[in-house]
Amino acid sequence: MSDATWGDGTRSVRAGEDAPVPGAPLRPSPVLAAPFHLGAAPPGADGADTYARTGQPTLRVFEAAVGELDGGRSLSFATGMAAISAAVLAVAGAGDRVVLPSDGYFTTRLLARDQLERFGVTVEYVPTTEIGAVAARGDLDGARFVMLETPSNPLLDVCDVAAVARATRATGAVLAVDNTTATPLGQRPLDLGADLTVGSDTKALTGHSDLLLGHVSTRDDELYTRLKVFRDHTGATPGPFEAWLGHRSMSTLDLRLARQAATAAAVADLLAAHPAVTGVRWPWRPGDPSHELATRQMLRPNGVVSAEVADEAAVGRLLGASRLWTAATSFGGVHSSVDRRAQWGGDAVPAGFVRLSCGIEDTADLVADLTAALDAV
Ligand SMILES: *Cc1c(COP(=O)(O)O)cnc(C)c1O
Repeated sequence: MSDATWGDGTRSVRAGEDAPVPGAPLRPSPVLAAPFHLGAAPPGADGADTYARTGQPTLRVFEAAVGELDGGRSLSFATGMAAISAAVLAVAGAGDRVVLPSDGYFTTRLLARDQLERFGVTVEYVPTTEIGAVAARGDLDGARFVMLETPSNPLLDVCDVAAVARATRATGAVLAVDNTTATPLGQRPLDLGADLTVGSDTKALTGHSDLLLGHVSTRDDELYTRLKVFRDHTGATPGPFEAWLGHRSMSTLDLRLARQAATAAAVADLLAAHPAVTGVRWPWRPGDPSHELATRQMLRPNGVVSAEVADEAAVGRLLGASRLWTAATSFGGVHSSVDRRAQWGGDAVPAGFVRLSCGIEDTADLVADLTAALDAV
């Protein structure tokens, strides 16, 4: 019943909800069922639920909410990687060519290397900053599935989704965008022409550092059905309690993003002014290489900032001197955190490269704490 003219805060709360019913809860409780009583009618008659892997009420409400924010129909998965696996495997098969970002989320490349190639899929990797030119040259001709990640994690480069979508529309490739960093409020890839938008809802969409979830949304009924069948058969359906928590957490997305982005603006300025720091990236900072495209294509900023200090020991001193910036490898949650990406071995980044995720603590406290920590670097 959502109204497209409503703002982000209203839609975060009301997306996916029906009109309130007198005497009923404003939010339904989770339906914690695996099998449902079948009764005497044929299984699934009138859309009745039978077994929770293929469908259940709590999941449908959550998916309706996420789908409304994305502007499509959404399917939730147990994790972001389950969603990405479903997106590519429901579309591409043996002999197909798949194009992935070379600088995107590391595990997506592991999925390609260890699974897709084993099943006869040919995988090519293109940097986020070059995919626009590759598409314009016609070099995506013959690709079956193209995935973008924008802003990319962890370097925060941005590519022009609409320009790549024009190329893939012309060649018939399916275009998917990993929209995790932006969130559905920060960017609407389906509006920009993508066929699929995927997200790790473990990150900012649910944002409380206590859940694993992911989703794929689309406006294409055939793709939706393929994804649904893929999920039914491979079984990465989230449990009802996760779906219920995800929906509850999503209600505060607008508030969390607003605080996180306000802090990120201050943190990016602080980092840029500090002599111990180089290479600060925040796409909404004037002068950032992503700034022009990000402000044109995206709807609002978020709290993920990246930067570089001298080396591993410098990151250690920063974390050792901080009380509020905690070493952790996720992002988008309520806690502020710092991840030294080189420790994982998967990203082509220097030893002192860090991705900072601004939480929802007070901006002044986070800035004061980070200032003290930087002085110890
Ligand atoms: C975390 C992340 C994923 C994977 O999500 P999980 O929920 O951890 O499986 C995919 N893409 C991006 C950009 C991510 O940050």
